[in-house]
Amino acid sequence: MARFQVNILGCGSATPSMRHLPSCQVIDFRDNLFMVDCGEGAQLSMRRMKLKFSRLNHIFISHLHGDHCFGLPGLLSTLALHDKSGTVTVHVFKEGAEVFGRMLEYFCRDMPFEICFNIIEPGVATIYEDDAITVSTFPLYHRIPCVGFVFREKPKLRHLRGDMVKFFNVPVRELHGIKRGADFVAPDGTVIANDRLTTPADRSISYAYCSDTMYDRRVAEWVNGVDVIYHEATYDDEYAAKARERGHSTAREAGKTAAAAGASRLIIGHFSKRYVSEDAHLAQAREEFPEVIAANEGMKIDLL
Ligand SMILES: [Zn+2]
Repeated sequence: MARFQVNILGCGSATPSMRHLPSCQVIDFRDNLFMVDCGEGAQLSMRRMKLKFSRLNHIFISHLHGDHCFGLPGLLSTLALHDKSGTVTVHVFKEGAEVFGRMLEYFCRDMPFEICFNIIEPGVATIYEDDAITVSTFPLYHRIPCVGFVFREKPKLRHLRGDMVKFFNVPVRELHGIKRGADFVAPDGTVIANDRLTTPADRSISYAYCSDTMYDRRVAEWVNGVDVIYHEATYDDEYAAKARERGHSTAREAGKTAAAAGASRLIIGHFSKRYVSEDAHLAQAREEFPEVIAANEGMKIDLL
């Protein structure tokens, strides 16, 4: 149940190719699915990866280039055919809400579920929160407005020590407070310190999705302290000038950002379709930061 997993549905740039699909990921957080970008092929990849449509309630779109959002109309209309009830919220820039809103009006009247658009801005903001996780945006530096997303687990509960709970006869109604750090006051007024009743909570983990961006020191500042970073790495060193010109990064630059941010792991993706292998990307990123994974369709990465 305590799952926090990144599913790679697409990690190619620009267009679908024989090797990769355009950008799409699904973050599985305790069986709630959060989609990040929705390139063409997203719904088919969800099926392949056995990700349940009924668990998907939030879709986050980083920017309005087609390779990050052309999967949306198809996915939403399929959800409608599935009699999925409830609400799906698409977090997107204003122009995207206008375009996709019109498409839905035209193609998907009488849907059994509600689609909400939550308008996001190209800055730092918390755009989703429940009792266990937050999702925030931060700015990226691309050719058009673009944001990244950080998923942060909230502080977790401390673990009860069963033997001590029994020993001090702690009533069940007190347990939740104790897991949150409260001391226990026994009926005779004796205070039992929390650390005699519990062991520390597991560490809260964070994950950042750095969508399309040129290399910029500020990105590492926005994701400073995040445990696992996904970062676009469209090009290798040979095309560093092209990366800059197109508002993209090289794998080495992704490695530099992960190192500067103090991450523990880096996932690279958004590979240009000019490559037949990502070996050079991996080698160059690893010269800057050792713990690098090259994304691939179908990959599931555990964050805990
Ligand atoms: Zn783009």
